[in-house]
Amino acid sequence: MKLDERHSFVSTDAVADWVDTNSHLPDNSVFLTFDDGYRDFVETVLPILERYEVPATVYVSTKLIKQQRPPFDYLLQEAISATDWVSLDTSDFSLEMETKQTSAKRAAYNQIRSRFKYATAEERRSVLDQVKEPDMSAVEMLTQDQIKMLSDHPLVTVGSHGHEHVPLDGISKTAIKHDVSQSKSYLENLTGGRVHHFSFPYGGWDYTSRRCVADIGFTTAVTTTPRTVSRHDSPLGIPRFDGFERGSKLKSGTTNVG
Ligand SMILES: [Zn+2]
Repeated sequence: MKLDERHSFVSTDAVADWVDTNSHLPDNSVFLTFDDGYRDFVETVLPILERYEVPATVYVSTKLIKQQRPPFDYLLQEAISATDWVSLDTSDFSLEMETKQTSAKRAAYNQIRSRFKYATAEERRSVLDQVKEPDMSAVEMLTQDQIKMLSDHPLVTVGSHGHEHVPLDGISKTAIKHDVSQSKSYLENLTGGRVHHFSFPYGGWDYTSRRCVADIGFTTAVTTTPRTVSRHDSPLGIPRFDGFERGSKLKSGTTNVG
């Protein structure tokens, strides 16, 4: 599908082949990915993809699906946006801040998110309780039936975004293997097919986590390093722009793509 005169939409598989085997891709190709597994992918995004015949990959965090609970950073953002005052006091971090203005809300979110990115589930729950218990009624995760339907859809690829949605560069090798393999087998049992695409939660990856993801059987992995893809990239470290920046972009060429 042509986005405009200069860009084309391609699949994650086509991008991985391009960096791995030097296969052909149109100049200025774009690939679309969606992390976490929100239900609005089916309700809002899929009809648009179908209308324009655009491929996309959905990376699902399997525990969030099982519990039908959005990830911590999403809940934190919701909680802060619903309160004019953030009061947080834990054993080694405290924050008292008026959050009427959007800029203050963003500042509070960034501070708390970066401090508790590697925290345990219990610590995160305590943070959310103290800030303001978020209203979860508006947020819905994909159901198992929807994931199965997406895996059979010709335009959609289902990948893993880990099980617990924790950054893999902050946990032990054993914990990485447990989390990633749990997610892979859950999705493969659900869809009846092989799942070989991975997205690092929070973009958190390092040599060990990349090695583990490969050992468990994933052939591609995307990060949140915000730049265009180069032929020199590994299929297990494909960079992406997030939706607030600009589309992850590719260009067939000889060296780094700028
Ligand atoms: Zn995520």
